[in-house]
Amino acid sequence: MLIDFHTHTTASDGALTPGEMVERARAAGIRLLALTDHDTVAGHRAAAAYYTQNPAPMRLVPGVELSCHWSGTTVHILGLGIDCDHPALLDGLALLDDARVQRGATIAGRLQALGFPGALEGAVAEAGASQIGRPHFAAWMVAQGHVADFNEAFDRYLGQGRTGDVKAFWPALAEVVQWIVAAGGVALIAHPLKYRFTRMKLRRLVVDFTAAGGTGIEIQSGRQTADQAAQLQRLAREFGLEVSAGSDFHRDTPYGPSLGVELPLLQGLRGVWERWPVPQT
Ligand code: AMP
Ligand code: MN
Ligand code: MN
Ligand code: MN
Repeated sequence: MLIDFHTHTTASDGALTPGEMVERARAAGIRLLALTDHDTVAGHRAAAAYYTQNPAPMRLVPGVELSCHWSGTTVHILGLGIDCDHPALLDGLALLDDARVQRGATIAGRLQALGFPGALEGAVAEAGASQIGRPHFAAWMVAQGHVADFNEAFDRYLGQGRTGDVKAFWPALAEVVQWIVAAGGVALIAHPLKYRFTRMKLRRLVVDFTAAGGTGIEIQSGRQTADQAAQLQRLAREFGLEVSAGSDFHRDTPYGPSLGVELPLLQGLRGVWERWPVPQT
């Protein structure tokens, strides 16, 4: 059975509209789907409205991917099964909106200092109604011919540790976990191996995360090796974490993940998907 609990649409930095995402998932035979746009539930809301008009043999699980700050790094926390109208979550999302706007101005200032003026206007135009982020700065840099492609933009200017990697505006890990839990959702550490933490540091993250009320972890995200999957399963077992899986799909690329992941078969682990029965067809 195909599922996907980690996807992006035009509400943040993905290429498909929420409606297109529902149709793509339907065509792929996905039975459980969550739209997890960065710091917004607008994608889920639009997909839910579309789905009401265009029913599909799948369950749409409300989702979001929240940005936060932990130990000097930006960490992403997924919220699944959230009540999108819960005041604590809405307050948190409003705070993240502001953070993204202020951060955008800071990124633009830094790019300007490097000799790239007009980045803010450019990225804002690229983002349109989407939640603005580094990918919109990258798209602008490509369009301006400042870099050859997206990868070069991240490698040289925007990626982890580069000048445009501004994280000062994010709320703390415990805060975003608490918003998700308050909204009745399950909080999960997204793509735990993407941060390139040592094993010890990753365990520290899990300890702080569970202390804040987090209960889950992504054991499969995008493309990863069997070794990596095994490492994450051990971590989940050790800390008694619920597990999730998703593609982190943003757009069609030759090397990137496609939509949908096969439901992992796990011994002694509780899948987050057990919370949401698949609709009968
Ligand atoms: P932001 O939410 O503004 O911090 O931007 C983070 C997003 O940028 C991630 O969710 C990815 O979609 C994208 N991203 C991060 N690193 C890279 C990279 N090295 N190459 C391409 N895209 C990236
Ligand atoms: Mn993204
Ligand atoms: Mn992420
Ligand atoms: Mn993501």
